Amino acid sequence: MTPATPAAALARLRATFNTGRTKPLSWRLGQLEALRGLLTERSEELQAALLTDLGKNPAEAYRAEIGFTLNELDHTVAHLEEWLRPKPAAVPDAFLPAGAQVVWDPLGVVLIIGPWNYPVQLVLAPLVGALASGNTVVIKPSELAPATSAVLAELVPRYLDNDAVAVVEGAIPETTALLEQRFDHIFYTGSGNVGRIVMTAAAQHLTPVTLELGGKSPVVVEPGADLAVTARRIARGKFANAGQTCVAPDYVLAIGDAASELEPHLAAAVHELYGEDPAGNPNYGKIINERNFDRLTPFLGDGRVVLGGGHDRAARHIDPTVLADVPPDAPVMREEIFGPVLPIVSVPDLDTAIAFINDRDKPLALYAFTGTEETKRRLTGETSSGALTFGLPVSHLAMPELPFGGVGASGMGRYHGEYSIDTFSHAKAVVDKPLN
Ligand code: NAD
Repeated sequence: MTPATPAAALARLRATFNTGRTKPLSWRLGQLEALRGLLTERSEELQAALLTDLGKNPAEAYRAEIGFTLNELDHTVAHLEEWLRPKPAAVPDAFLPAGAQVVWDPLGVVLIIGPWNYPVQLVLAPLVGALASGNTVVIKPSELAPATSAVLAELVPRYLDNDAVAVVEGAIPETTALLEQRFDHIFYTGSGNVGRIVMTAAAQHLTPVTLELGGKSPVVVEPGADLAVTARRIARGKFANAGQTCVAPDYVLAIGDAASELEPHLAAAVHELYGEDPAGNPNYGKIINERNFDRLTPFLGDGRVVLGGGHDRAARHIDPTVLADVPPDAPVMREEIFGPVLPIVSVPDLDTAIAFINDRDKPLALYAFTGTEETKRRLTGETSSGALTFGLPVSHLAMPELPFGGVGASGMGRYHGEYSIDTFSHAKAVVDKPLN
């Protein structure tokens, strides 16, 4: 059931929160088990919707969306009691005798706004954290993945506590109406431009926000690295979901001779992944809509085509494409690509690579393939990014003990595992001094 109006949805959820029903551990675990039921019993419906919206093949849809969320859920269920335990704090001598501790208060009514690229994972993984923290939740899936949005709107009320979780479908007008309401936290995943709109609306109510944004995530490649392995791992991270992954490698910063050596390895890796004809390969995704197709195709002329370049508007298909000799100021280097185009920019040395990264917005992720500990040490100490991963792009996302989030233009706040409890709870200081 989709609520009649945002105000009505809010009123119902706030009334539920005010009863205190969502606070006990038993309610939280019960909701997480109900969500497990939805994910396991209805995985085929979710997979079918993801195939319709994104051409995501069912195995990939299971791995990256359903299975991913189940892992997050399992990890949370296994540790929740321990995470929610009040944390004792030392009391300075001047206040003794007294006790002090931190307790985790639910925030109230949380709004989760999701994007279209992983439209199941990116609303349900935050939902795990919001429910585990004892909140009521409004979910607003992306209208650009309409089949998935419809399935979520149908299934969530069947499985979860109807008075505590609501799905509101819709595009800009519906989201704008939701944002006029007072929430206790807004968790937004999507582009920075809409992030600004969300944060401006939240400011009217002094509502805190988590902004999971995007940006250009570079891959530094040094000549001494094993370039066959490097190319395979870059290609997997880049071309999954047709490049429409927030933490996909956006471009390669190749040091010295690495660019020319990497080119044939990238061509071989893409061939191994998607064969001669990626357009006919069911494991390769499609572009979400024509607007994004039209945004992406001009990039195909921004460098020497090493491989790919083919495209078909009617099928919303763009080949996995690698471009070399790309000038640092080419259009493809000025915005997040968010599609299957991989530019290679050559730089002479690591100093130049670090300066290149630091001259631009802080990335959501920085990746590097290097044979030296010195390079790892320098990249760790001399750059800032949401995450830094050596040797396997995108992998940090699936490690629930790591925080996931951006910094600077790539976002604010973080979630996954225990970090979600921190995001969706208030850490309340409690002091208890005896009266005599
Ligand atoms: P999108 O267009 O689906 O928008 C995201 C959400 O914002 C949707 O629910 C949409 O309805 C809402 N929205 C759009 N315009 C709005 C407006 N004017 N007012 C209020 N709400 C509005 O998705 P998108 O923004 O194209 O997503 C792609 C971006 O998201 C990329 O930059 C990508 O890197 C980023 N992203 C980040 C993460 C992450 O976890 N950090 C994950 C996925 C995507």
